[in-house]
Amino acid sequence: MPTTDTHPAAADTDVLVVGAGPTGLLLAGDLAAAGLDVTLVERRPAGRSSLTRAFGVHARTLELLDSRGLADALEATGTPLTRMRLFGRLSLDLGRLPSRFDHLLVTPQYEVERLLEERAAAAGVTFRHGTALRALRQDADGVTAELTGPDQTPLTLRARHLVGTDGHRSTVRTALGLPFPGTSVIRSIVLADVRLADEPAETLTVSGSGDTFVFLAPFGDGWYRVMGWDRTRQVPDDEPVGLDEVRDLARRALGTDHGMHDPRWLSRFHSDERQVPAYRVGRVFLAGNAAHVHSPAGGQGMNTGLQDAANLSWKLVAVHRGEAPDPEALLDSYQTERHPVGATVLRTSGALVRLAMARTPAARALRTLAATVLGTLRPASTKALATLSGLGIAYAPAPGGGRSSGRRAPDVRLREGRLHALLRAGEFVLIAPEGASPALPSIAPTTAARVVRATWPDPARRTSVLVRPDGHVLWTDR
Ligand SMILES: Cc1cc2nc3c(=O)[nH]c(=O)nc-3n(C[C@H](O)[C@H](O)[C@H](O)COP(=O)(O)OP(=O)(O)OC[C@H]3O[C@@H](n4cnc5c(N)ncnc54)[C@H](O)[C@@H]3O)c2cc1C
Repeated sequence: MPTTDTHPAAADTDVLVVGAGPTGLLLAGDLAAAGLDVTLVERRPAGRSSLTRAFGVHARTLELLDSRGLADALEATGTPLTRMRLFGRLSLDLGRLPSRFDHLLVTPQYEVERLLEERAAAAGVTFRHGTALRALRQDADGVTAELTGPDQTPLTLRARHLVGTDGHRSTVRTALGLPFPGTSVIRSIVLADVRLADEPAETLTVSGSGDTFVFLAPFGDGWYRVMGWDRTRQVPDDEPVGLDEVRDLARRALGTDHGMHDPRWLSRFHSDERQVPAYRVGRVFLAGNAAHVHSPAGGQGMNTGLQDAANLSWKLVAVHRGEAPDPEALLDSYQTERHPVGATVLRTSGALVRLAMARTPAARALRTLAATVLGTLRPASTKALATLSGLGIAYAPAPGGGRSSGRRAPDVRLREGRLHALLRAGEFVLIAPEGASPALPSIAPTTAARVVRATWPDPARRTSVLVRPDGHVLWTDR
């Protein structure tokens, strides 16, 4: 089925995005900022929840938000964490991260959503709240979505492409007939947002005793997030959680409950590890939790979804503008680049949780060894930090892209300003030596008129580099 025509039959919208979580909001905002007509449907009514699921924004995500002019506003809402303590003995120093954002930003998920929603609205996204996707079908020209609007009104919308960012129970994924293989990795996790009479010295703590583990992190405004697990108390998700249960768990795992009081949220949940095999089926894409779910260990879920969105948005833009030399290959590269990243996140967050749950002497010895290796060998801890922060994510080089193709472009200083600030135009950035004006390579899915041109401040640098809108290198001339 041809899926990337540049002269489509009439459609109500260029791209229909289903689900206004963080992934859908970033994607819709990017597409609309580039001039596409975008409709975002969301099952929930308008208005935000004050409860937060994710609360950690990693360095690479902060860089992507910086490339959209949002990072400084988000930083103002939270607390930077520069150190993590894992399993009692391992202390990871985030201050070593090679980024303007040398920390984990602790801030509620609703703050991320607020900024992304404001940006999407300002860029012209059409929001339809109280509207749920029920079914979809696709043909050579587009996708037809069957929806239910407020008061159960049936509604049909036609789009050239559709993206399912509708979370772990994704209707889009089901409508595509895709499986979501995996397992339930950990059950009966308790969650509490509390205040502490006695605040811990370490900023973020993960500790376990074999039968228990507890994770404790500050929001920075006096509230703390506690997540805990007790092997001896495995009950269904709907079993109420009392503060006493959380305090008891903390005493057993950490040796103290830090005087927890005034809980504002108590909940119990389980955590699955699942990944859809195909992120793209014809004109329909999946991103965020609709494509992958994993344990909350490592705080990767929202971060990975936002990075999926940043990877997909510029590709859809290039195809809709008719600028991609090979549109099918460009859209397929979303799967080849992002599916392996999702698989790695499943592996690493799963490994963290299994280490935390280690019970047998052999498993606990392995945990001690892992902590010792990470704590004492600088290359090992550097690699762990690169994985956790997302700064180490690199894609396969583009054919003919040169030596650094696929790698993340750091926020270098250029004559015209910082690279990540120049990326706020949402376009490719071509960095060249002073006086040179290299031609765009034939693999570039953009036109010369759109490219932002920049110059190395050091005249000795003779390389030309073309940076993609998502901050990865597309091409270098040597
Ligand atoms: C306790 C906990 C702690 C976490 N901590 C972290 C953390 O520290 N860091 C991190 O990165 N991640 C964390 N996560 C994971 C993070 O919350 C999710 O990965 C993130 O919300 C996924 O974003 P999303 O936009 O892909 O999906 P969602 O946020 O699930 O959004 C999907 C949206 O789609 C809507 N929708 C669903 N079906 C339809 C339909 N048929 N039609 C229209 N709309 C629909 C839903 O109403 C929802 O608004 C945590 C999760 C939990 C549970």
